[in-house]
Amino acid sequence: MVRVGFGYDAHRLVEGRSLVLGGVTVPHPTGLLGHSDADVLTHALIDALLGALCKGDMGQHFPDTDPAYENVDSLMLLEKVMVWVREEGYRVGQLDSTIVAEKPRLSPHLAAMRHRLSGVLGVSFARVSVKAKTSEKMGFCGREEGMEAFAVVSLVRENRTD
Ligand SMILES: [Zn+2]
Repeated sequence: MVRVGFGYDAHRLVEGRSLVLGGVTVPHPTGLLGHSDADVLTHALIDALLGALCKGDMGQHFPDTDPAYENVDSLMLLEKVMVWVREEGYRVGQLDSTIVAEKPRLSPHLAAMRHRLSGVLGVSFARVSVKAKTSEKMGFCGREEGMEAFAVVSLVRENRTD
């Protein structure tokens, strides 16, 4: 059996914050604002995994009112969600994702993001896709007010021998 999940996230860009995308810190004068590290790509991926499991969304499981999640590394939250994926008897089949950002140019950093995410997801680099697009200066991403990310993930039933 295959399950599919879709996730979306958006965060505001502000000065004085690190820009963290897919667990990779990208040099940039502004960073994403949020309770955690505001890793918009990882958050979209978490929502995609929760969606595939029909387990609601990230805000329900990791509320931004909880001090435990203040400035937390979002890959740690992803690890928690992967525990639930495995407990339900699934493994990740494939991830495809897109970050929408006017600046900086993200293509030099995409391979590092794929490496970090593939490690946490327990799936090969070749099955993890991270793409980046601008919105051609339109909307909040185009005005560099924020970034958004979209992710689609498939989960496949783990063959259990126990
Ligand atoms: Zn988020």
